[in-house]
Amino acid sequence: MSEYFDLVVIGAGSGGLAAAKRAASYGARVAIVEGDRVGGTCVIRGCVPKKLMVYGSAMRHHLHDAVSYGWSVGDISHNSAVLLQRVRAEVDRLNQLHIGFLENAGVQLVRGWGRFADANTVSVVDPSGSELQRLRAERILIAVGGRPHRPEIPGAELGWVSDDMFNLERLPERVVVVGAGFIACEFACILNGLGVQVTQLVRGDHLLRGFDLESSRTVQEAMEADGIDIRLTHSPASIEGTPGDLTVITQSGERLPCNGVLLATGRRPFLQGLNLEAAGVAIESHRIPVNADQATNVSHIYAVGDVTDRVNLTPVAVDEGRALADTIWGRKPRQVDHELIASAVFSQPELSGVGLTEEAAIERYGADGVKVHRARFRPMSQALPARDPKVLLKLVVELASGKVVGCHMVGEHAAEIIQMAAIAIGMGASKADFDRTMALHPTVAEEFVTMPN
Ligand code: FAD
Repeated sequence: MSEYFDLVVIGAGSGGLAAAKRAASYGARVAIVEGDRVGGTCVIRGCVPKKLMVYGSAMRHHLHDAVSYGWSVGDISHNSAVLLQRVRAEVDRLNQLHIGFLENAGVQLVRGWGRFADANTVSVVDPSGSELQRLRAERILIAVGGRPHRPEIPGAELGWVSDDMFNLERLPERVVVVGAGFIACEFACILNGLGVQVTQLVRGDHLLRGFDLESSRTVQEAMEADGIDIRLTHSPASIEGTPGDLTVITQSGERLPCNGVLLATGRRPFLQGLNLEAAGVAIESHRIPVNADQATNVSHIYAVGDVTDRVNLTPVAVDEGRALADTIWGRKPRQVDHELIASAVFSQPELSGVGLTEEAAIERYGADGVKVHRARFRPMSQALPARDPKVLLKLVVELASGKVVGCHMVGEHAAEIIQMAAIAIGMGASKADFDRTMALHPTVAEEFVTMPN
């Protein structure tokens, strides 16, 4: 016999959890199916453990700087086994916390992999495919997220994907990172800060495609100055060897010996095993397309988060899930604005931005329609240590309206600062509004409100 629910959610990650709890808060009878660990990518193998490792890695700079402020720190060494073990312990704690949140919200957690039996029935199966139970529902939400995608080269199975990094017992001496996106850059910096020799292979001619170009070049220069060997226009042709003793052979024939290879070459929606055909749900180039109300082509089946491959970030998945619940069970219809989303790269230095990049603004308004204001300087915190990198602050202004259409920063706490700037820019702030704001001194961010016209 199958149980009947108002909503069955497949996937207990950022989007699924948010939708399930919000729907239950309005009185809906909700079940959530999870085949792996509750929390999903963000909590278990993404944002959270990654940021903890960024903090751990950045300590190296703080320890070095401390000497110039008069501290004696003695010999500095790092035990990566301790960091990795402590990060895993924190992830375990958060995993339990999220299970508790579901219980408190009255959402039924069903362990196993969800698979459509028909358009109103989810069959829950174990890893071997044996059915554990059936759940019937008026509405079904697909929130299965994405998985790392390995490049199709010989030996790719010898490399790690980002998930594997959190399960290592300790970090090796030398790692080749393949990729130019935010995950590749963040891990290159994490590893470098923790004393690993890093070579990064980048297919194109710059890092971080899609981010403001000047900002990404600033990050690249700083990463190189910090000792990361970045090889632009280099791709791996194959990987050889045995775990721990590998060689990456590049397309130009160069051999790069290393102890590990991180393949950070993109992610794809995880559609495997869902049996979408049984429900008639359409897919389009490996993703599930949805309308502005998160509905698939089958009107009572929805999808949110990375499986829809729109803006693949945790807060976006969460908001999509909540918007769905607010609209249907809360009777407060709303749609998610995917336009003005702040984003960050937790590289060292950090890069963050909101709104249009300089390139996108010029494309939209023409070179004569845009003015870019920038400040580049050594922040006060680095004066005594007398070290680079300099910070970069940029305002991209549309001349006709005077509006700030883009705000970008490279430097310490960039993401924290841009989070607040995003409010002003979302409200349509002009350069004059920025100028009218009294500076808060001495800070780095005060330069955003004192840039000459
Ligand atoms: P997920 O969080 O991936 O959750 C999907 C869940 O569904 C998983 O638990 C999975 O096991 C489960 N599942 C899949 N198939 C089935 C099935 N058939 N049955 C049952 N369960 C199933 N975003 C940010 O905003 N900031 C960051 O700093 C950031 N850093 C990141 C760092 C890394 C290394 C990675 C990989 C991602 C990062 N992201 C970051 C992206 C963010 O993690 C994702 O955008 C977000 O987790 C997407 O949420 P989701 O609900 O769509 O999917």
